[in-house]
Amino acid sequence: MAAHATLPFSCSSKLQTLTRTLSPRGPLHLRRGFIRLPSLAAFPRFSRAPHPSCRHISASAEASNGASAEGEYDFDLFTIGAGSGGVRASRFASTLHGARVAICEMPFATIASEEHGGLGGTCVLRGCVPKKLLVYGSKYSHEFEESHGFGWTYETDPKHDWSTLIANKNTELQRLVGIYKNTINNAGVTLIEGRGKIVDPHTVSVNGKLYTAKNILIAVGGRPSIPNIPGIEHVIDSDAALDLPSKPEKIAIMGGGYIALEFAGIFNGLKSDVHVFIRQKKVLRGFDEEVRDFLAEQMSLRGITFHTEQTPQAITKSNDGLLSLKTSKETIGGFSHVMFATGRKPNTKNLGLEEAGVEMDKNGAIVVDEYSRTSVESIWAVGDVTNRINLTPVALMEGGAFVKTVFGNEPTKPDYRAVPSAVFSQPPIGQVGLSEEQAIEEYGDVDVFVANFRPLKATLSGLPDRVLMKIIVCATTNKVVGVHMCGDDAPEIIQGIAIAVKAGLTKQDFDATIGIHPTSAEEFVTMRNATRKIRNNTASEVESKDEVVTKQ
Ligand code: FAD
Repeated sequence: MAAHATLPFSCSSKLQTLTRTLSPRGPLHLRRGFIRLPSLAAFPRFSRAPHPSCRHISASAEASNGASAEGEYDFDLFTIGAGSGGVRASRFASTLHGARVAICEMPFATIASEEHGGLGGTCVLRGCVPKKLLVYGSKYSHEFEESHGFGWTYETDPKHDWSTLIANKNTELQRLVGIYKNTINNAGVTLIEGRGKIVDPHTVSVNGKLYTAKNILIAVGGRPSIPNIPGIEHVIDSDAALDLPSKPEKIAIMGGGYIALEFAGIFNGLKSDVHVFIRQKKVLRGFDEEVRDFLAEQMSLRGITFHTEQTPQAITKSNDGLLSLKTSKETIGGFSHVMFATGRKPNTKNLGLEEAGVEMDKNGAIVVDEYSRTSVESIWAVGDVTNRINLTPVALMEGGAFVKTVFGNEPTKPDYRAVPSAVFSQPPIGQVGLSEEQAIEEYGDVDVFVANFRPLKATLSGLPDRVLMKIIVCATTNKVVGVHMCGDDAPEIIQGIAIAVKAGLTKQDFDATIGIHPTSAEEFVTMRNATRKIRNNTASEVESKDEVVTKQ
């Protein structure tokens, strides 16, 4: 999600630092934060039996340090926020280490606010899951178009019913909320409904009731951030876009990040007239340059209009209810919806952090050390609220590492090397490791293998779909340091490739792997000739357009 580029909270510069940690030259190096190993001696040894569901755990796992003496605190851990990171940490602390854990979460509402949220958090209720369901729903139109070349004809054009999609999506979300509730209960974690606020380093208040804990974990995530310009009351954010009463006829989407592009694909697939407005020249700041260009071109070919280098200035609503958007360059009217996907902000307002002495950065993100500890000894933070890499699997990893550190007697830093991520645009992107630009900056000498081809399916569908695949290799070690793909199934394919990149495999290892034929993915093990050999960022760059694979 997500991860080496324009992620939520505009963390791309941070990510460039993080992704560079793939370097064999240096250790993991977080840009901010203060390194302080939790002193194991400072914690009393764990003495309580683990939750009944895992009484079988070994004696060494029980040698934990985050528990309090009986009666000293109400809980060993109090977690604020039951999203990806909070639930993972609470569950593991209780089931793996027998800690007494409570978690608080606000009541459910479709749109997150200071008073509403819901079990499961952003990923389940307003992010990954509902978004992907809508991506699935919207992809059919392209497949209908493709099908003609394979002999399919339709008496009438297939019709889409938005309300069926939204109702089915909501039923599924309710099911998932139920699963989260059971998971929390089965783990022996006390669930408290309400908004948590820190009162002091060991006390949280929820609905006016005070709870004490030896450790407090802040896992409150983030919310959409929208600039305050005239007419902003007429716009929607990604929360609202996932639950609209009717499908937009014509929508303006502000932002060139992954969320903006995913929604552009969804509405375009459902046959809305989609206009994307971006401040910069290109979409997906921080991603590989070639991938940025390729995706924008493919999305344009599918009918999305991009308006570049434009800043939104005002929105006006006319008597017919339609919206006009004034930007730094033009005014366009006739929109049924204007959506802002211009970043997200950590949920740290009115959380009692200033009073408790928890340090935040200028964007309101909680500053943590490499072990997710805040500037207050007993308070920890994981997930989007810390604005490291804002993706669900990363929040899960941070939650797990926190538990090992605090309750498992095993200080553990989250490992940010080679975090793979996807953009569920249409076509989608999958990527792991460094972009070409980052690799050149990091290593100087880099070999780049590029395949840009027409996939087999397009030969019969007749559509102008293409696939882009890139392997980036450190020329000195021959290690593959970045792999990128834009095309059908890219996220699924890159998940597998990420294992190879994380394991530090070389280009020879890729070459020695047998392909699966006929697939697009086989290209990753058959790219023999470097498209570019870049040497020390200097004039000795060798580029041969002829070597770019053009499979037909
Ligand atoms: P969250 O999941 O946001 O959970 C925080 C919880 O804390 C919320 O439930 C909130 O209600 C609660 N809370 C807040 N304040 C309080 C309080 N004071 N008291 C009690 N509870 C509180 N990531 C991916 O990996 N892949 C994707 O495809 C992807 N797609 C996304 C699409 C969209 C539209 C969005 C917005 C995000 C997407 N993400 C994706 C990012 C992913 O959702 C987040 O990285 C992840 O949810 C972060 O988990 P978290 O635990 O930090 O916070």
